[in-house]
Amino acid sequence: MTDVVVVGAGLAGLAAARDLEAGGAQVTVLEARPRVGGRVEQVELPDGRRVQLGGEVVGNAHTSYLGLVEELGLTLAPSYVAEPGEITRQVPESVDVGDWPSWCTEADRASYDEVQAALAKVHAAIDPDDPWSCPDLERLDRLSVGDWLREVGATANVLRLWELVHLSLSDGSVERQSLFAYARKTVVGGTTGSYDVEQWENLRVAEGSATVALTMGAALRDLRIDTPVRSIRIGAGGSTVTTAAGEEIHADAVVLAVPSGPARDIDIQGVSDARLTSLRRQRHAWAAKFVAAYDEPFWRERGQNALSESEGVLGSTWPQQRGVLSALVPPERYAAFVATDPETRTREALDQVAQMFGPEARSPLQTWTRLWGSDPWTQGYVTNWRPGDVMAVGPLHGTHEPPFYVCGSDQWVAGYMEGAVRTGRAAAAAALTGGH
Ligand SMILES: Cc1cc2nc3c(=O)[nH]c(=O)nc-3n(C[C@H](O)[C@H](O)[C@H](O)COP(=O)(O)OP(=O)(O)OC[C@H]3O[C@@H](n4cnc5c(N)ncnc54)[C@H](O)[C@@H]3O)c2cc1C
Repeated sequence: MTDVVVVGAGLAGLAAARDLEAGGAQVTVLEARPRVGGRVEQVELPDGRRVQLGGEVVGNAHTSYLGLVEELGLTLAPSYVAEPGEITRQVPESVDVGDWPSWCTEADRASYDEVQAALAKVHAAIDPDDPWSCPDLERLDRLSVGDWLREVGATANVLRLWELVHLSLSDGSVERQSLFAYARKTVVGGTTGSYDVEQWENLRVAEGSATVALTMGAALRDLRIDTPVRSIRIGAGGSTVTTAAGEEIHADAVVLAVPSGPARDIDIQGVSDARLTSLRRQRHAWAAKFVAAYDEPFWRERGQNALSESEGVLGSTWPQQRGVLSALVPPERYAAFVATDPETRTREALDQVAQMFGPEARSPLQTWTRLWGSDPWTQGYVTNWRPGDVMAVGPLHGTHEPPFYVCGSDQWVAGYMEGAVRTGRAAAAAALTGGH
Protein backbone atom coordinates (compact mmCIF):
# COMPACT_ATOMS: atom_id res chain seq x y z
CA MET A 1 0.00 0.00 0.00
CA THR A 2 1.37 3.36 -1.04
CA ASP A 3 0.07 6.69 0.30
CA VAL A 4 -0.58 8.39 -3.04
CA VAL A 5 -0.59 7.25 -6.68
CA VAL A 6 0.04 10.07 -9.17
CA VAL A 7 -1.18 9.27 -12.69
CA GLY A 8 0.87 11.12 -15.33
CA ALA A 9 4.43 12.49 -15.15
CA GLY A 10 4.04 15.81 -16.95
CA LEU A 11 4.95 19.00 -15.10
CA ALA A 12 1.75 18.77 -13.01
CA GLY A 13 2.19 15.17 -11.87
CA LEU A 14 5.90 15.68 -11.24
CA ALA A 15 5.36 18.89 -9.23
CA ALA A 16 2.62 17.15 -7.21
CA ALA A 17 4.77 14.07 -6.55
CA ARG A 18 7.77 16.20 -5.59
CA ASP A 19 5.78 18.16 -2.98
CA LEU A 20 4.04 15.02 -1.72
CA GLU A 21 7.38 13.32 -1.14
CA ALA A 22 8.75 16.45 0.51
CA GLY A 23 5.68 16.37 2.78
CA GLY A 24 6.52 12.81 3.86
CA ALA A 25 4.13 10.79 1.66
CA GLN A 26 5.05 7.55 -0.02
CA VAL A 27 4.33 8.22 -3.69
CA THR A 28 4.14 6.06 -6.81
CA VAL A 29 4.05 7.88 -10.16
CA LEU A 30 2.69 6.02 -13.19
CA GLU A 31 3.54 7.41 -16.63
CA ALA A 32 2.28 6.01 -19.96
CA ARG A 33 5.16 7.22 -22.11
CA PRO A 34 8.74 5.98 -21.98
CA ARG A 35 9.83 9.40 -20.68
CA VAL A 36 8.72 12.08 -18.22
CA GLY A 37 7.66 15.61 -19.18
CA GLY A 38 4.48 15.05 -21.22
CA ARG A 39 3.96 18.19 -23.27
CA VAL A 40 7.48 19.41 -22.54
CA GLU A 41 10.06 17.48 -24.53
CA GLN A 42 13.52 18.34 -25.82
CA VAL A 43 16.16 16.95 -28.15
CA GLU A 44 19.81 17.95 -28.40
CA LEU A 45 21.66 19.07 -31.52
CA PRO A 46 25.26 17.81 -32.01
CA ASP A 47 26.46 21.36 -31.12
CA GLY A 48 24.73 21.11 -27.72
CA ARG A 49 21.73 23.36 -28.39
CA ARG A 50 18.64 21.92 -26.67
CA VAL A 51 15.61 22.17 -28.92
CA GLN A 52 12.12 22.33 -27.41
CA LEU A 53 9.38 20.36 -29.19
CA GLY A 54 6.64 21.29 -26.73
CA GLY A 55 6.12 23.96 -24.04
CA GLU A 56 8.81 26.57 -24.19
CA VAL A 57 8.22 30.10 -22.86
CA VAL A 58 6.78 31.57 -19.68
CA GLY A 59 6.05 35.09 -18.46
CA ASN A 60 6.07 37.40 -15.46
CA ALA A 61 2.58 36.26 -14.43
CA HIS A 62 3.76 32.65 -14.05
CA THR A 63 4.76 32.91 -10.41
CA SER A 64 4.42 29.20 -9.49
CA TYR A 65 6.56 28.09 -12.41
CA LEU A 66 9.17 30.80 -11.78
CA GLY A 67 9.33 29.80 -8.11
CA LEU A 68 9.85 26.16 -8.99
CA VAL A 69 12.63 27.01 -11.45
CA GLU A 70 14.41 28.88 -8.67
CA GLU A 71 13.97 25.96 -6.23
CA LEU A 72 15.45 23.59 -8.81
CA GLY A 73 18.48 25.83 -9.27
CA LEU A 74 17.77 26.46 -12.97
CA THR A 75 18.27 29.75 -14.80
CA LEU A 76 15.82 32.12 -16.48
CA ALA A 77 16.73 33.91 -19.71
CA PRO A 78 14.82 36.34 -21.96
CA SER A 79 12.66 34.61 -24.55
CA TYR A 80 12.06 35.58 -28.21
CA VAL A 81 10.67 38.87 -26.92
CA ALA A 82 14.27 40.13 -26.70
CA GLU A 83 15.09 39.19 -30.33
CA PRO A 84 16.03 42.32 -32.35
CA GLY A 85 14.01 43.20 -35.45
CA GLU A 86 10.38 43.50 -36.43
CA ILE A 87 7.34 41.24 -36.58
CA THR A 88 6.10 39.82 -39.93
CA ARG A 89 2.48 39.29 -41.00
CA GLN A 90 1.73 36.95 -43.87
CA VAL A 91 -1.64 36.85 -45.64
CA PRO A 92 -2.39 35.68 -49.20
CA GLU A 93 -2.14 39.25 -50.56
CA SER A 94 1.02 40.41 -48.78
CA VAL A 95 3.95 39.85 -46.45
CA ASP A 96 4.37 42.89 -44.20
CA VAL A 97 7.18 43.64 -41.78
CA GLY A 98 6.51 46.09 -38.95
CA ASP A 99 3.94 46.83 -36.28
CA TRP A 100 1.00 47.44 -38.61
CA PRO A 101 0.35 45.48 -41.85
CA SER A 102 -0.17 47.45 -45.07
CA TRP A 103 -3.84 46.44 -45.22
CA CYS A 104 -4.72 48.34 -42.02
CA THR A 105 -5.91 51.95 -42.32
CA GLU A 106 -6.05 54.82 -39.81
CA ALA A 107 -9.69 53.86 -39.16
CA ASP A 108 -8.57 50.33 -38.29
CA ARG A 109 -6.00 51.65 -35.81
CA ALA A 110 -8.67 53.79 -34.13
CA SER A 111 -11.01 50.78 -34.03
CA TYR A 112 -8.24 48.66 -32.50
CA ASP A 113 -7.90 51.17 -29.62
CA GLU A 114 -11.68 51.26 -29.12
CA VAL A 115 -11.74 47.47 -28.82
CA GLN A 116 -9.04 47.60 -26.13
CA ALA A 117 -11.13 50.09 -24.16
CA ALA A 118 -14.21 47.87 -24.52
CA LEU A 119 -12.21 44.86 -23.34
CA ALA A 120 -11.12 46.72 -20.21
CA LYS A 121 -14.83 47.05 -19.32
CA VAL A 122 -15.36 43.28 -19.69
CA HIS A 123 -12.31 42.66 -17.52
CA ALA A 124 -13.59 44.95 -14.78
CA ALA A 125 -16.53 42.56 -14.23
CA ILE A 126 -14.28 39.51 -13.67
CA ASP A 127 -12.61 38.66 -10.37
CA PRO A 128 -9.60 36.46 -11.22
CA ASP A 129 -9.90 34.68 -7.86
CA ASP A 130 -13.65 34.09 -8.16
CA PRO A 131 -14.73 33.99 -11.81
CA TRP A 132 -18.07 32.44 -10.82
CA SER A 133 -19.14 35.67 -9.13
CA CYS A 134 -19.27 37.53 -12.47
CA PRO A 135 -22.90 38.70 -12.83
CA ASP A 136 -22.76 38.44 -16.64
CA LEU A 137 -20.96 35.09 -16.77
CA GLU A 138 -23.56 33.14 -18.74
CA ARG A 139 -23.92 35.74 -21.49
CA LEU A 140 -20.18 36.38 -21.79
CA ASP A 141 -19.49 32.65 -21.97
CA ARG A 142 -22.10 32.08 -24.70
CA LEU A 143 -20.66 34.93 -26.76
CA SER A 144 -17.74 34.14 -29.06
CA VAL A 145 -14.82 36.57 -29.17
CA GLY A 146 -15.68 37.15 -32.86
CA ASP A 147 -19.33 38.04 -32.12
CA TRP A 148 -18.22 40.36 -29.32
CA LEU A 149 -15.76 42.12 -31.66
CA ARG A 150 -18.61 42.73 -34.11
CA GLU A 151 -20.88 43.84 -31.23
CA VAL A 152 -18.38 46.53 -30.15
CA GLY A 153 -17.99 47.73 -33.75
CA ALA A 154 -14.55 46.35 -34.66
CA THR A 155 -13.69 46.88 -38.33
CA ALA A 156 -13.24 43.84 -40.60
CA ASN A 157 -9.47 44.36 -40.53
CA VAL A 158 -9.37 44.48 -36.73
CA LEU A 159 -11.26 41.18 -36.70
CA ARG A 160 -8.70 39.81 -39.12
CA LEU A 161 -5.83 41.01 -36.88
CA TRP A 162 -7.41 39.38 -33.81
CA GLU A 163 -7.91 36.13 -35.71
CA LEU A 164 -4.23 36.19 -36.72
CA VAL A 165 -3.18 36.61 -33.08
CA HIS A 166 -5.52 33.88 -31.82
CA LEU A 167 -4.46 31.36 -34.43
CA SER A 168 -0.83 32.28 -33.82
CA LEU A 169 -1.37 31.12 -30.23
CA SER A 170 -3.13 28.03 -31.62
CA ASP A 171 -5.95 28.15 -29.11
CA GLY A 172 -8.65 28.30 -31.77
CA SER A 173 -10.44 30.84 -33.95
CA VAL A 174 -12.06 33.92 -32.39
CA GLU A 175 -15.32 32.52 -33.83
CA ARG A 176 -15.02 29.43 -31.63
CA GLN A 177 -13.72 30.88 -28.38
CA SER A 178 -15.76 31.92 -25.35
CA LEU A 179 -15.37 35.64 -24.61
CA PHE A 180 -15.55 34.89 -20.89
CA ALA A 181 -12.75 32.31 -21.11
CA TYR A 182 -10.59 34.70 -23.09
CA ALA A 183 -11.23 37.64 -20.73
CA ARG A 184 -10.66 35.48 -17.64
CA LYS A 185 -7.30 34.43 -19.03
CA THR A 186 -6.16 37.99 -19.68
CA VAL A 187 -7.41 39.14 -16.25
CA VAL A 188 -5.39 36.37 -14.59
CA GLY A 189 -2.40 37.69 -16.54
CA GLY A 190 -2.92 40.99 -14.73
CA THR A 191 -3.58 43.21 -17.75
CA THR A 192 -6.52 45.36 -18.82
CA GLY A 193 -6.03 45.00 -22.59
CA SER A 194 -5.62 41.95 -24.82
CA TYR A 195 -3.02 39.17 -24.42
CA ASP A 196 0.26 40.65 -23.14
CA VAL A 197 3.42 38.75 -24.04
CA GLU A 198 5.35 40.32 -21.14
CA GLN A 199 3.01 38.54 -18.73
CA TRP A 200 2.82 35.26 -20.63
CA GLU A 201 5.91 34.76 -22.81
CA ASN A 202 8.94 36.92 -21.99
CA LEU A 203 11.12 34.27 -20.28
CA ARG A 204 12.48 30.78 -20.84
CA VAL A 205 14.61 28.34 -18.87
CA ALA A 206 18.15 28.60 -20.22
CA GLU A 207 18.87 24.89 -19.61
CA GLY A 208 15.75 24.00 -21.64
CA SER A 209 12.15 23.96 -20.43
CA ALA A 210 12.06 20.12 -20.45
CA THR A 211 15.00 20.18 -18.01
CA VAL A 212 12.50 21.34 -15.36
CA ALA A 213 10.60 18.05 -15.78
CA LEU A 214 13.72 15.90 -16.11
CA THR A 215 15.20 17.38 -12.91
CA MET A 216 12.04 16.66 -10.92
CA GLY A 217 11.68 13.17 -12.40
CA ALA A 218 15.26 12.21 -11.52
CA ALA A 219 14.67 12.96 -7.83
CA LEU A 220 11.51 10.86 -7.39
CA ARG A 221 11.70 7.59 -5.45
CA ASP A 222 9.09 5.47 -7.29
CA LEU A 223 8.53 6.57 -10.87
CA ARG A 224 7.36 3.96 -13.38
CA ILE A 225 7.49 4.87 -17.07
CA ASP A 226 5.84 2.82 -19.86
CA THR A 227 2.98 2.24 -17.44
CA PRO A 228 -0.37 3.52 -18.79
CA VAL A 229 -3.25 3.51 -16.33
CA ARG A 230 -6.50 1.88 -17.42
CA SER A 231 -8.81 2.37 -14.43
CA ILE A 232 -9.10 4.13 -11.08
CA ARG A 233 -11.42 2.99 -8.29
CA ILE A 234 -11.80 5.50 -5.47
CA GLY A 235 -12.92 4.31 -2.04
CA ALA A 236 -12.98 5.94 1.40
CA GLY A 237 -11.14 2.94 2.84
CA GLY A 238 -8.56 2.77 0.06
CA SER A 239 -8.35 3.27 -3.69
CA THR A 240 -7.04 1.05 -6.48
CA VAL A 241 -5.27 2.09 -9.68
CA THR A 242 -5.04 -0.56 -12.39
CA THR A 243 -2.42 -0.35 -15.13
CA ALA A 244 -2.95 -1.42 -18.75
CA ALA A 245 -0.87 -4.51 -17.95
CA GLY A 246 -3.36 -5.43 -15.18
CA GLU A 247 -1.23 -4.60 -12.15
CA GLU A 248 -3.26 -3.23 -9.22
CA ILE A 249 -1.73 -0.57 -6.98
CA HIS A 250 -3.51 0.30 -3.75
CA ALA A 251 -3.32 3.76 -2.23
CA ASP A 252 -4.98 6.12 0.23
CA ALA A 253 -5.30 8.86 -2.40
CA VAL A 254 -5.03 9.29 -6.17
CA VAL A 255 -3.85 12.37 -8.06
CA LEU A 256 -4.98 12.44 -11.69
CA ALA A 257 -2.50 14.52 -13.72
CA VAL A 258 -3.36 13.72 -17.35
CA PRO A 259 -4.86 15.94 -20.09
CA SER A 260 -8.63 15.89 -20.61
CA GLY A 261 -8.55 13.59 -23.68
CA PRO A 262 -6.53 10.73 -22.13
CA ALA A 263 -8.49 11.28 -18.87
CA ARG A 264 -11.68 10.38 -20.75
CA ASP A 265 -10.09 7.05 -21.72
CA ILE A 266 -9.53 6.06 -18.06
CA ASP A 267 -12.41 4.22 -16.38
CA ILE A 268 -12.96 6.16 -13.13
CA GLN A 269 -15.29 4.76 -10.45
CA GLY A 270 -16.21 6.03 -6.99
CA VAL A 271 -16.40 9.76 -7.66
CA SER A 272 -19.61 11.75 -8.12
CA ASP A 273 -21.37 11.90 -11.49
CA ALA A 274 -21.16 15.69 -11.41
CA ARG A 275 -17.37 15.56 -11.15
CA LEU A 276 -16.99 13.02 -13.92
CA THR A 277 -19.31 15.01 -16.18
CA SER A 278 -17.27 18.16 -15.52
CA LEU A 279 -13.92 16.41 -16.12
CA ARG A 280 -15.08 14.72 -19.31
CA ARG A 281 -16.65 17.89 -20.73
CA GLN A 282 -13.37 19.79 -21.20
CA ARG A 283 -11.91 19.88 -24.68
CA HIS A 284 -8.55 20.58 -26.23
CA ALA A 285 -7.39 22.58 -29.21
CA TRP A 286 -5.42 20.31 -31.52
CA ALA A 287 -2.10 21.71 -32.68
CA ALA A 288 1.26 20.65 -34.07
CA LYS A 289 4.69 22.14 -33.50
CA PHE A 290 7.25 22.45 -36.27
CA VAL A 291 10.87 23.35 -35.45
CA ALA A 292 13.77 24.09 -37.80
CA ALA A 293 17.38 24.52 -36.63
CA TYR A 294 19.90 26.62 -38.57
CA ASP A 295 23.53 27.60 -38.06
CA GLU A 296 22.66 31.25 -37.74
CA PRO A 297 19.60 33.50 -37.21
CA PHE A 298 19.57 34.54 -40.89
CA TRP A 299 16.35 36.54 -40.46
CA ARG A 300 18.27 39.26 -38.58
CA GLU A 301 19.98 40.43 -41.79
CA ARG A 302 16.57 41.47 -43.14
CA GLY A 303 15.59 43.37 -39.98
CA GLN A 304 13.10 40.67 -39.00
CA ASN A 305 12.86 39.03 -35.57
CA ALA A 306 11.46 35.71 -36.92
CA LEU A 307 8.22 36.42 -35.07
CA SER A 308 5.31 36.03 -37.46
CA GLU A 309 1.55 35.69 -37.58
CA SER A 310 0.26 34.04 -40.71
CA GLU A 311 -2.80 32.80 -42.57
CA GLY A 312 -0.70 29.91 -43.91
CA VAL A 313 -0.65 26.40 -42.44
CA LEU A 314 1.86 27.62 -39.87
CA GLY A 315 -0.08 30.14 -37.79
CA SER A 316 3.01 31.58 -36.13
CA THR A 317 6.79 31.43 -35.95
CA TRP A 318 9.20 32.75 -33.34
CA PRO A 319 12.90 32.39 -32.55
CA GLN A 320 13.28 29.72 -29.88
CA GLN A 321 16.97 30.47 -29.31
CA ARG A 322 19.96 31.34 -31.53
CA GLY A 323 19.23 29.97 -35.01
CA VAL A 324 16.28 27.79 -33.92
CA LEU A 325 12.84 28.63 -35.28
CA SER A 326 9.62 27.36 -33.66
CA ALA A 327 6.24 27.27 -35.40
CA LEU A 328 2.70 26.23 -34.48
CA VAL A 329 0.03 24.71 -36.71
CA PRO A 330 -3.29 25.93 -35.25
CA PRO A 331 -6.37 23.69 -34.77
CA GLU A 332 -8.21 25.17 -37.79
CA ARG A 333 -5.29 24.12 -40.07
CA TYR A 334 -4.27 20.88 -38.36
CA ALA A 335 -6.16 18.63 -40.79
CA ALA A 336 -4.56 20.33 -43.81
CA PHE A 337 -1.12 19.82 -42.28
CA VAL A 338 -1.55 16.19 -41.23
CA ALA A 339 -3.24 15.11 -44.46
CA THR A 340 -0.02 14.57 -46.37
CA ASP A 341 3.24 12.63 -46.06
CA PRO A 342 5.94 13.87 -43.65
CA GLU A 343 8.27 14.97 -46.46
CA THR A 344 5.64 17.17 -48.10
CA ARG A 345 4.68 18.62 -44.73
CA THR A 346 8.26 19.65 -44.06
CA ARG A 347 8.79 21.07 -47.55
CA GLU A 348 5.57 23.09 -47.41
CA ALA A 349 6.36 24.41 -43.94
CA LEU A 350 9.86 25.50 -45.03
CA ASP A 351 8.41 27.10 -48.18
CA GLN A 352 6.11 29.18 -46.03
CA VAL A 353 9.00 30.24 -43.78
CA ALA A 354 11.09 31.10 -46.87
CA GLN A 355 8.32 33.37 -48.21
CA MET A 356 8.58 35.36 -45.00
CA PHE A 357 12.27 35.29 -44.11
CA GLY A 358 14.19 34.39 -47.27
CA PRO A 359 15.46 31.33 -49.19
CA GLU A 360 17.96 30.35 -46.43
CA ALA A 361 14.93 28.94 -44.62
CA ARG A 362 14.88 26.03 -47.09
CA SER A 363 18.23 24.66 -45.84
CA PRO A 364 17.93 23.85 -42.15
CA LEU A 365 20.38 21.63 -40.27
CA GLN A 366 17.44 19.62 -39.04
CA THR A 367 13.64 19.84 -38.61
CA TRP A 368 11.17 18.22 -36.22
CA THR A 369 7.42 17.86 -36.48
CA ARG A 370 5.47 16.96 -33.36
CA LEU A 371 1.79 16.10 -33.95
CA TRP A 372 0.53 16.72 -30.42
CA GLY A 373 -3.11 16.82 -31.53
CA SER A 374 -3.18 13.17 -32.55
CA ASP A 375 -0.73 11.91 -29.92
CA PRO A 376 -2.68 9.34 -27.83
CA TRP A 377 -1.25 10.59 -24.52
CA THR A 378 -2.08 14.26 -25.20
CA GLN A 379 -4.97 14.32 -27.69
CA GLY A 380 -4.62 18.04 -28.14
CA TYR A 381 -2.32 20.89 -27.20
CA VAL A 382 -4.01 23.20 -24.67
CA THR A 383 -7.52 23.50 -23.24
CA ASN A 384 -9.94 25.08 -25.69
CA TRP A 385 -12.97 26.91 -24.28
CA ARG A 386 -15.62 27.18 -26.94
CA PRO A 387 -18.67 29.40 -26.36
CA GLY A 388 -20.67 27.81 -23.50
CA ASP A 389 -17.85 25.54 -22.31
CA VAL A 390 -17.01 27.43 -19.09
CA MET A 391 -20.62 27.02 -17.89
CA ALA A 392 -20.75 23.40 -19.05
CA VAL A 393 -17.56 22.40 -17.20
CA GLY A 394 -18.77 24.44 -14.24
CA PRO A 395 -17.36 25.38 -10.84
CA LEU A 396 -16.03 21.87 -10.15
CA HIS A 397 -13.25 22.72 -12.61
CA GLY A 398 -9.88 22.48 -10.87
CA THR A 399 -11.33 21.26 -7.55
CA HIS A 400 -10.90 17.94 -5.72
CA GLU A 401 -13.08 15.19 -4.29
CA PRO A 402 -10.82 13.65 -1.60
CA PRO A 403 -9.25 11.15 -1.80
CA PHE A 404 -9.42 11.90 -5.57
CA TYR A 405 -7.36 14.92 -6.59
CA VAL A 406 -6.93 16.48 -10.03
CA CYS A 407 -4.21 18.66 -11.48
CA GLY A 408 -2.74 19.57 -14.84
CA SER A 409 -2.65 22.67 -16.97
CA ASP A 410 -6.23 21.91 -18.08
CA GLN A 411 -7.34 22.47 -14.50
CA TRP A 412 -6.18 26.10 -14.54
CA VAL A 413 -7.84 28.92 -16.47
CA ALA A 414 -5.63 28.85 -19.48
CA GLY A 415 -3.29 25.88 -19.70
CA TYR A 416 0.41 26.76 -19.87
CA MET A 417 3.28 25.29 -17.89
CA GLU A 418 2.22 27.66 -15.11
CA GLY A 419 -1.16 25.92 -14.93
CA ALA A 420 0.53 22.53 -14.62
CA VAL A 421 2.92 23.55 -11.84
CA ARG A 422 0.38 25.67 -9.97
CA THR A 423 -2.33 22.99 -9.92
CA GLY A 424 0.19 20.19 -9.26
CA ARG A 425 1.50 21.93 -6.17
CA ALA A 426 -2.03 22.82 -5.03
CA ALA A 427 -3.16 19.19 -5.42
CA ALA A 428 -0.21 18.01 -3.33
CA ALA A 429 -0.97 20.56 -0.61
CA ALA A 430 -4.62 19.45 -0.53
CA ALA A 431 -3.75 15.74 -0.50
CA LEU A 432 -1.26 16.19 2.35
CA THR A 433 -4.00 17.66 4.54
CA GLY A 434 -6.80 15.48 3.14
CA GLY A 435 -8.62 18.66 2.15
CA HIS A 436 -10.29 20.14 -0.91
C1 LIG B 1 3.45 22.42 -28.90
C2 LIG B 1 3.20 22.97 -27.56
C3 LIG B 1 3.70 24.20 -27.23
C4 LIG B 1 3.47 24.74 -25.98
N1 LIG B 1 4.03 25.93 -25.67
C5 LIG B 1 3.93 26.40 -24.40
C6 LIG B 1 4.70 27.51 -23.99
O1 LIG B 1 5.50 28.05 -24.75
N2 LIG B 1 4.55 27.95 -22.72
C7 LIG B 1 3.72 27.32 -21.82
O2 LIG B 1 3.65 27.75 -20.67
N3 LIG B 1 3.01 26.24 -22.19
C8 LIG B 1 3.12 25.75 -23.44
N4 LIG B 1 2.46 24.63 -23.81
C9 LIG B 1 1.57 23.99 -22.83
C10 LIG B 1 2.35 23.24 -21.78
O3 LIG B 1 3.39 22.51 -22.36
C11 LIG B 1 1.39 22.30 -21.07
O4 LIG B 1 0.25 23.02 -20.64
C12 LIG B 1 2.00 21.63 -19.86
O5 LIG B 1 3.29 21.14 -20.11
C13 LIG B 1 1.06 20.49 -19.45
O6 LIG B 1 1.55 19.81 -18.33
P1 LIG B 1 0.62 18.71 -17.65
O7 LIG B 1 1.45 18.02 -16.64
O8 LIG B 1 -0.65 19.34 -17.20
O9 LIG B 1 0.19 17.72 -18.81
P2 LIG B 1 1.11 16.81 -19.74
O10 LIG B 1 2.42 17.45 -19.94
O11 LIG B 1 0.30 16.47 -20.92
O12 LIG B 1 1.38 15.53 -18.84
C14 LIG B 1 0.44 14.52 -18.68
C15 LIG B 1 1.17 13.19 -18.61
O13 LIG B 1 0.20 12.15 -18.43
C16 LIG B 1 0.60 11.04 -19.20
N5 LIG B 1 -0.58 10.19 -19.43
C17 LIG B 1 -1.63 10.40 -20.25
N6 LIG B 1 -2.50 9.39 -20.15
C18 LIG B 1 -2.01 8.54 -19.23
C19 LIG B 1 -2.47 7.31 -18.68
N7 LIG B 1 -3.60 6.75 -19.06
N8 LIG B 1 -1.68 6.69 -17.76
C20 LIG B 1 -0.50 7.24 -17.33
N9 LIG B 1 -0.02 8.40 -17.84
C21 LIG B 1 -0.78 9.04 -18.76
C22 LIG B 1 1.17 11.66 -20.47
O14 LIG B 1 2.00 10.77 -21.15
C23 LIG B 1 1.91 12.86 -19.90
O15 LIG B 1 3.26 12.56 -19.60
C24 LIG B 1 2.68 24.04 -25.04
C25 LIG B 1 2.18 22.78 -25.36
C26 LIG B 1 2.46 22.23 -26.60
C27 LIG B 1 1.93 20.87 -26.91
